[in-house]
Amino acid sequence: MTQSIAPETTVKLSLIVPVFNEAETVSLFINSISTVFDKEPLVDLEILFINDGSTDDTLLRLLELQSIDNRIQIIELSRNFGKEAALTAGLQICSGQIIVPIDVDLQDPPQLIPAMITKWREGYEVVLGRRIDRDSDSWAKRSSANLFYRIHNKMTSSKIPENVGDFRLMDKCVVEAIKELPESRRFMKGLFAWVGFKTTYINYSRPQRSAGTSKFNGWKLWNFALEGITSFSTDPLKIWTYLGLTFSAISFLFAIFIALKVIIHGADVPGYASIMVAVTFLGGLQLIGIGILGEYLGRTYIESKRRPVFIIRQIYRGKR
Ligand code: UDP
Ligand code: MG
Repeated sequence: MTQSIAPETTVKLSLIVPVFNEAETVSLFINSISTVFDKEPLVDLEILFINDGSTDDTLLRLLELQSIDNRIQIIELSRNFGKEAALTAGLQICSGQIIVPIDVDLQDPPQLIPAMITKWREGYEVVLGRRIDRDSDSWAKRSSANLFYRIHNKMTSSKIPENVGDFRLMDKCVVEAIKELPESRRFMKGLFAWVGFKTTYINYSRPQRSAGTSKFNGWKLWNFALEGITSFSTDPLKIWTYLGLTFSAISFLFAIFIALKVIIHGADVPGYASIMVAVTFLGGLQLIGIGILGEYLGRTYIESKRRPVFIIRQIYRGKR
């Protein structure tokens, strides 16, 4: 465990900032970072932007910013690999003693980072930013997120803390542990939780996006939720055994009931409706079962290829 560190020492902090079509937000972000860290002489800052295949002027903006700010480094990926892969790239390359993944749109307020560092100096290895209100999210996003956390945490042994995103401070030892995890489909929130370590919280209310638009729509979020559950639990595969057993038992009892009825009252022909309901219901149930098998099989297939999580086109190192 990290021992309490004297508050006087200078610490190297790496900010990991994935960006995808964020030309409008990057300079607002840097302004806000400067406002916070110009007052923090004990922090040696490295800002690692991961340009996740942006198709707008994001790279140009970043290079402009880098020419006047030597804390900035830019990792350019060869295409859009998604936020999880971009974060993974950042964690691989960062060199700080403490690491903070942060969204560029200022929805993760940089003003919280000094307080996180204070907690780290007290000896915590992970300091989570917990959203105490999500008023900036729509009702649908909030309630589906709640439902996801509830289902996910019921099914897995490593619980994801509720209302916590990727915004957190991590000690280097935590990042080293995450880098050891070999899987190529990376649900970062789950991996962060899985490695454990001594954790505490800082509460904040999540503001609106500074500019630009959200990159996550309903369908992407649904797939993200599936990724989370299938990455950390095999319960969806197991329920079929029990469902199958239950239905077999019910149909066995039903068969006895029908046989007795035929013996006592003789055969009656009507029953078309009930047969159709049973056939279509069980048919649907079986298709769902096959679908769930498919979700896992597909993931096993992709994982077995051992492809890299991301590909770097170029790294623009600032003059340090
Ligand atoms: N992002 C990324 N790659 C993607 C989608 C998003 O690097 O494919 C970045 C994006 O630029 C931002 C962060 O991930 O810095 C969070 O995205 P966004 O604000 O759109 O998500 P939301 O806050 O709406 O959940
Ligand atoms: Mg956002």
